[in-house]
Amino acid sequence: RIRFDGVSKNFGALRVVDRLNLDIKAGEFVSLLGPSGSGKTTLLMMLAGFEEPTEGRILVDGTSVNGLPSYKRNMGVVFQNYALFPHMTVAENVAFPLSMRNFGKGEIRSRVDKALDMVQLGTLSRRYPAQLSGGQQQRVALARALVFEPRVVLMDEPLGALDKQLREQMQLDIRELHNRLGLTIVFVTHDQSEALTMSDRIAVFNKGKIEQIGSPRDIYDHPRTRFVAEFIGETN
Ligand code: ATP
Repeated sequence: RIRFDGVSKNFGALRVVDRLNLDIKAGEFVSLLGPSGSGKTTLLMMLAGFEEPTEGRILVDGTSVNGLPSYKRNMGVVFQNYALFPHMTVAENVAFPLSMRNFGKGEIRSRVDKALDMVQLGTLSRRYPAQLSGGQQQRVALARALVFEPRVVLMDEPLGALDKQLREQMQLDIRELHNRLGLTIVFVTHDQSEALTMSDRIAVFNKGKIEQIGSPRDIYDHPRTRFVAEFIGETN
C-alpha cells in the first residue's frame, strides 16, 4: 500500500506537484496520465526516492519513507531511456545492479536467469544490446528492474521509444507480468489509449494535481471536468 499525503514539490519558485493525495493498493496497476510537464515524473521520482518532497509524506505500508534512500525502498524502476550498457551482454546488464550490491555469484546467476525467464529472454542472455530489437532491449531493462524481486515497479513512459506494434505487444506483456507476479505497478504515460487498456485505475494529472482518478471505464464514460474530457478525447 502506497499513500501520498499532501505531497508537494517545488523546483525553485515553480510548484510542480501541488498538495497531492493518492492511495495505491497492493497489487494494483495505476497509470499517471497527463500532458507533458504536469508532474507525473516528479511524483514517480519522489516515490522512488530520487527526489524529496518539499512538503507532505509518502507512506508505504503505513510507514513514512521520506528521507529513505532509493536502494532501501525495494522498488524496481524502468525508464524510457533505459540505457543498457552496450559493452555488456544481456545477462551482464541484468546482473549489474546485483553485482554492485555484493550478491554472491550463484545467487546472481539464479536471479538473472529467473528475471530473464520472466520477460522471455532466456535464450538471448549472451547477446549484446545492439543485437536486439527495441522491444527486446526494453525487456532487458524490465528484467534489470525485477532482479531485486520488488513488489512495486515504477515505469516512466517505458514504451515511448517503441513503434506501435511492439508497443502493443509490450503492453500485453507488462500487464501479464503484473497479473502473474501480483506486482504493484505505477505507470507514467501521456498516451490515453495506453492508460485505458492497461490500468486498473487512472489518475489524470493537470498542473501538479490529480484532476480525476478512477477506472478506465469511469474516466472514459464519465469525465468530471472539461480538461479530462478533452485530454481523453484526444488521439495521438
Ligand atoms: P513529461 O511527460 O514531459 O516528463 P511530466 O508530467 O512527467 O512531463 P515532470 O517531468 O514531472 O512532468 O515535470 C514537471 C515540471 O517540473 C516541468 O516543468 C519540468 O521542467 C520541471 N522539472 C522537473 N524536474 C526538474 C528539476 N530537477 N529542476 C527544475 N525543474 C524541474
